[in-house]
Amino acid sequence: MGKTYYCDYCDRSFKDDVEARKKHLSSMQHMTNRANHYSMFKDPETILKEEYNKTPCKRYMTVGDCAFGPGCRFSHYTPSMIWELQQLAAMKNAKVSAVQPRDGWPNSEDIIKEYFENVIDSSGTEDLSQPTWSTPAGLVNYPYLPPSLRPVTSERMMDCDFSKWG
Ligand SMILES: [Zn+2]
Ligand SMILES: [Zn+2]
Repeated sequence: MGKTYYCDYCDRSFKDDVEARKKHLSSMQHMTNRANHYSMFKDPETILKEEYNKTPCKRYMTVGDCAFGPGCRFSHYTPSMIWELQQLAAMKNAKVSAVQPRDGWPNSEDIIKEYFENVIDSSGTEDLSQPTWSTPAGLVNYPYLPPSLRPVTSERMMDCDFSKWG
């Protein structure tokens, strides 16, 4: 049995030859494990900022490994890993702003909800059996109202004898 290569990120060992190592290091599983590993102790935004300033490590990209490891002054991040970090950073930002709304500022979700609820209240399905106008509660039971101020009810509408009108 030849040399074996142990991958810290994936917690598994395999035959150490350039092909196998390269294949493993470019596998989705390894990249995910590696990204997760770094995101545990490093802010994705921090990594991104660092990696944007680096040029890709030729050795790492071609051979699949670099003796300098994470301390290398060239970037060991592939475009897909950078993309993954961008997603992580975006997710993190979304979480932060959702957990900490600005003090005293109405939640944008509440505003939208309120807006749509009001629209439904005013122009929603009209129940035609009910008068669409309302009478102040104090007037409804007041016995000495002039006819013009009496609440309009459907009964009173029916009682109207239009033929008597001049
Ligand atoms: Zn691995
Ligand atoms: Zn390197």
